[in-house]
Parts: sequence; C-alpha cells; structure tokens
Amino acid sequence: MLIKKIEHIAIAVRNLDEAIKLYENIFGLKCYLIEEVNEQKVKTAFFKIGEVKIELLESTGTGGPVEKFIEKRGEGIHHIAFAVDDVNSSLKELEANGIQLIDKSKRAGAEEFDIAFINPKSTHGVLTELCEKKSTGK
Ligand code: ZN
Repeated sequence: MLIKKIEHIAIAVRNLDEAIKLYENIFGLKCYLIEEVNEQKVKTAFFKIGEVKIELLESTGTGGPVEKFIEKRGEGIHHIAFAVDDVNSSLKELEANGIQLIDKSKRAGAEEFDIAFINPKSTHGVLTELCEKKSTGK
C-alpha cells in the first residue's frame, strides 16, 4: 500500500460559521468550498494549507457521526485522510493484515473523492480515511 500524501485533516466543530471565522479572519486562510454530504449528515468547509487541506465538519442532523463524536469527545480532530491510488485494493491489503475496517469498499465522499474509513481501534485511536480522486469518465 502506498500513501501518497496527507490529503486532509478533518476537525469536528459545533458551529461551522464560527470556525470559518477563525480560519479566515485570524489564520488568514480562505474557505474555497462549502459542501453538504447528506449521507454523512455533515456540512464541510475546506481550506488549503500548501498541499494539505483542512476540512471543518459540522453536524447537520441528529444521529450523524459528527454529532456522536462531539457528544462523546467534544470538538477536535475527527480524522486524518491519506491519499492513495486505489482505495479498494488498499482496503484488501489492510484486511489481510488484520486491520479492522469501517468500510469494506469505497463510497462517495465530498469533493469528488471516493473514500473509506479504517476503524480507529486498529489505528491507535485515530479515525483514518483513505481517499482516491474519482476517475472522470475513462
Ligand atoms: Zn475526510
């Protein structure tokens, strides 16, 4: 398995507008995209720092994963995402190595990425995402 780079670091926040103000007005970054991922009951705001993105996550519905996370652990780093060429083959490789997966195969994420999560039980408490840019119609 080859991890190419850290694609993004995701931070769970209670109030997306407030968090965006911090990143824009204090940190001087520019939010370039706000996107809702209904399937995940989450609204996301993206910032670029060099090659790495910061993704702020606000829950949009009850019972969503980000809401549960904040209830349990408060605001904070929610997950780290590694870019790979092929999420499904990476998942197979991880599974063969006894790593517990949350997603057995890739699914649609934000920003035209296919993603899958690895169980934090297998990654020292850090929810880890694999992501691959969707191939655009070959
Ligand atoms: Zn992510």
